Formats: sequence, structure tokens, C-alpha cells
Amino acid sequence: MSELLYMDNSYLKEFDARITSVKSKYILLDKTAFYPNSGGVEYDTGKIIRKSDGKEFKVIYVGKFEGEVSHEVDTEGLNQGDEVHGILDWERRYELMRYHTAAHLISGVFNRNYNLLITGNQLTTEKGRIDLNLEKFDIEFIKRIIDEANSLIEKNYPVDIYYKSIEEAKEDPSLFKLAMDFPHDVKDLRIVEIKGVDAQADGGCHVKSLKEIGKIEFLEAVNKGKNNRRIYFSITDK
Ligand SMILES: [Zn+2]
Repeated sequence: MSELLYMDNSYLKEFDARITSVKSKYILLDKTAFYPNSGGVEYDTGKIIRKSDGKEFKVIYVGKFEGEVSHEVDTEGLNQGDEVHGILDWERRYELMRYHTAAHLISGVFNRNYNLLITGNQLTTEKGRIDLNLEKFDIEFIKRIIDEANSLIEKNYPVDIYYKSIEEAKEDPSLFKLAMDFPHDVKDLRIVEIKGVDAQADGGCHVKSLKEIGKIEFLEAVNKGKNNRRIYFSITDK
């Protein structure tokens, strides 16, 4: 298993690593800062530079396969054992971090006020989608939630990341609001907490404090049935 550098430092933009496996254009590294497509959040892109000759390979997709983070590069030629330098497309990653924390914030506001469950999400650099089991489909109500999320951004609460043992975490079911795609073979769970608003088990990348999100804009809500009200939002710089 490669060491997942993004888990402890979402702001890591470059890193050194060694290639542990190559299958045509699919590369495994001993450690990586590239986030794989998972948990409803899109993958990172960027490049891998071979140290011995400076040759660049574009990273065009990153996915999780059989528990491993696999990097798809644009051309073949990398070899097992190559020492490389990885560089993320930071603009893209940072946008995804802002969307991801915004999605936690919105779901946190829904959850703490109305005890609603998130049934899914999909986050890209263009827009975010949150699926909820919302009894009544009421656009004004949804807009008020977004307004409340924006007023919390003004307060600029910190976003903390820490670990809890599985036993400890199981005593607090609210940590598993969006419990999709979690490794069940681990001893500790990674918790992402927006102070006073939301805490959940999560393996993704987040901004350090709410102001970095900018402003959340409600786009539309789509009624897909009682357990599946879809909310679309975007974020803008402020
Ligand atoms: Zn998340």
C-alpha cells in the first residue's frame, strides 16, 4: 500500500516518490499526494517527472483499484524502481478542496438543525451536488440552509483533521453521515471536523478554515423522490 500523503497534508503540492509497479500507463508509487477519484470527489491531475532524465509524464487520471491509488499517465515509458517527482495541478485540487469542505458545511447545517441524512454527493471543479433524504421538497428552506452556511463561513471556523479509534468512533454514529467508501480494515478513522458544525469520518482533502471556501451559491434543487432530493451549488471567490 502506498503512503497517502494527502491524508496528513492537503496542501502538499509536490513530493518525491519511487515507482513500485507499472502496467502500461498505470503507475503505483510508494507514496503519493494525488487524490484518487473516490467518495464523490473528483481525482487530481498533474505530472510525474523522472529524476534520472527529467522526462515528464502527465497524470491524466487517478483512481483507486483493489485498495491501491493508481496513476494513469499519458505515455508509457516509466519503469518500476524509477525515482520521480510528482507535481499536482494545484488550481484544480484547491478548487476540489473548497467544494469538499463546502459540501461538509452544507450537510452539517442540514444535519444539526434537521437531522437529515446525506445519501450521496458529487463534487467537481464546476459544481457540487448533494443528495438528501428530505421529507418536504421546499426550495426556500434549502436556500435558507445555504444562507446559514454562508454566515458560518463569515465566522471562519477552523477545519480540523484527527484520528479516532474505530471503537471510539462507533460510539458516535453521527460521524458516519456519508459513510461511503471507507476502508474497514483500518484501526483508526480519520475525522474531519468543522468546529461546532460538523464532524464526519472522511478520507478526503479539505481547506484549513471556512473562509477559504469563498461564497456558496445555490444553483438548483431537483426532486428525485423522497430519499433523493438533489441540491446543486457552486462556490465563488469573495
Ligand atoms: Zn467528505
